[in-house]
Amino acid sequence: MTRHDGDAIDPLLDGEPCGFISFLDDGSVRVANQTLANMLGREREEIIGKHVEGILTVGSRIFYQTHFFPLLRLHGHADEIFLLLRAKSGEDIAVLANAIRRERDGEWITDAVLLRLVERRKFEDALLEAKRAAELATVELKHQRKIAEDANRAKSAFLAMMSHELRTPLNAIGGYVQLIEMGVHGPVNDAQREALGRVTRSQQHLLRLINDLLNLARIESGRIDYDLQAISLDEVVQATIPMIEPQLAARGLRYELNVPPDLRAQADREKVEQILLNLLSNASKFTPAGGCVSIEAEIAIDSDEMVELRVRDTGVGIPKNRLEQIFEPFVQVENSRAARVEGSGLGLSISREMARGMGGDILAESAVGVGSTFEIRLRRG
Ligand code: ADP
Repeated sequence: MTRHDGDAIDPLLDGEPCGFISFLDDGSVRVANQTLANMLGREREEIIGKHVEGILTVGSRIFYQTHFFPLLRLHGHADEIFLLLRAKSGEDIAVLANAIRRERDGEWITDAVLLRLVERRKFEDALLEAKRAAELATVELKHQRKIAEDANRAKSAFLAMMSHELRTPLNAIGGYVQLIEMGVHGPVNDAQREALGRVTRSQQHLLRLINDLLNLARIESGRIDYDLQAISLDEVVQATIPMIEPQLAARGLRYELNVPPDLRAQADREKVEQILLNLLSNASKFTPAGGCVSIEAEIAIDSDEMVELRVRDTGVGIPKNRLEQIFEPFVQVENSRAARVEGSGLGLSISREMARGMGGDILAESAVGVGSTFEIRLRRG
């Protein structure tokens, strides 16, 4: 074996995925495997016998003498050091090198194994790319969220403005109808009175619808305040009954009350009245004449920190599979037994949002043809 005999390498090393190079202390390359030659894009003959600095370059000619060689002299080995090889094409190739310097046949020889770090590079590139993409996505997400928030604010502002604009002429219609009914513009005959009654009913229906829309817009934009206080449930019921009594009487319905006088809830009185009125109005709309609507209240069965205010009716009922949907905006159940009733499908969704806004909830139970129970759960006051 001659000192610069490239063929002397074990053929097994040529098939290795790692580059292999062996050089003397003066830097002259003794052996190199085919993998290393491939890495550098050179013929093996271009490497054997040349100075190692021409191969293990990091752009500085003195690298071998100043770094690699002193390291080897000092420790006898160099573990996992990061090097850049300059390929013939000029490309830098990142490698991880393990080298050992030992005496063999009276000569100091360094054997180095070089592991190409292409995969690590690809991995790092991919990581960088992914990081950049994630940053971009975050920016895009923030942008989209801002657009959505702006749109939501604009929608709420628009609804609030429109509700106001619509309510003003509607109130004017109501007012002028009342004046005509009072005979301010001359006597009113029965047919005219009947027509005026229809105008009033339509005007009030539209007004309710607009109020509901406004409420929903306010709730959705989180612009609703709750004035939470310990309120008497009995007082709330007593204040609500006069508002619903005429409607119950007109539909031929009885009502029953079972509310203990000392039961209190931690809630916004006005909102509870609004919810209760909505539930009572539904009960009266969906209960055929001769039926009964009852209001009852008690401490919650499952927690003495909560109270339950229930509205029970003997009405048409709601199919089980629709019980959750009715709390969604604009959902109404088609029920052949129910007379065609007016409504927007907004009442329950507004009521539930308000109950939740006070730390409570609304739950429903029903059996078709038997009746429904709506339960307002509130914190005990
Ligand atoms: P609206 O009554 O204005 O249609 P709601 O949100 O208050 O809107 O109610 C949604 C739907 O739920 C009603 O249209 C009706 O189909 C059903 N519903 C509500 N309350 C009752 C009830 N007490 N009995 C039977 N169905 C009811």
